[in-house]
Amino acid sequence: MAKGNMSVFDHKCRKCGCQFSSRDRIPVCSECFTDSDLIPGLEEEEALAASKWEDNSIQFPRLIEEAQAAGAFTKEVINDMAESMDLQTHEVHELLERARVKWEKIKESL
Ligand SMILES: [Zn+2]
Repeated sequence: MAKGNMSVFDHKCRKCGCQFSSRDRIPVCSECFTDSDLIPGLEEEEALAASKWEDNSIQFPRLIEEAQAAGAFTKEVINDMAESMDLQTHEVHELLERARVKWEKIKESL
């Protein structure tokens, strides 16, 4: 089998050994699949990484803080956001600051 042709979505089934394609992080093909293969079937580290990726309470602060760090929240953007969120601009800044603090805490615990 030509190994070089495998894409990131190609996996080798851990039960029957066939090669299958899936966007899901599931270690067995659809024919071998049972519910118990969903996450516990993954290696511990992979499962942990997958669960962190799925966790909105981790990824949302991260997203906000990265957007902030990349300069997405200009004065004009903050003003527009405040208006559409029915908040004062300092309240939008407070939310951004809370996201930053939250993300710092998450990074410390990762
Ligand atoms: Zn299989």
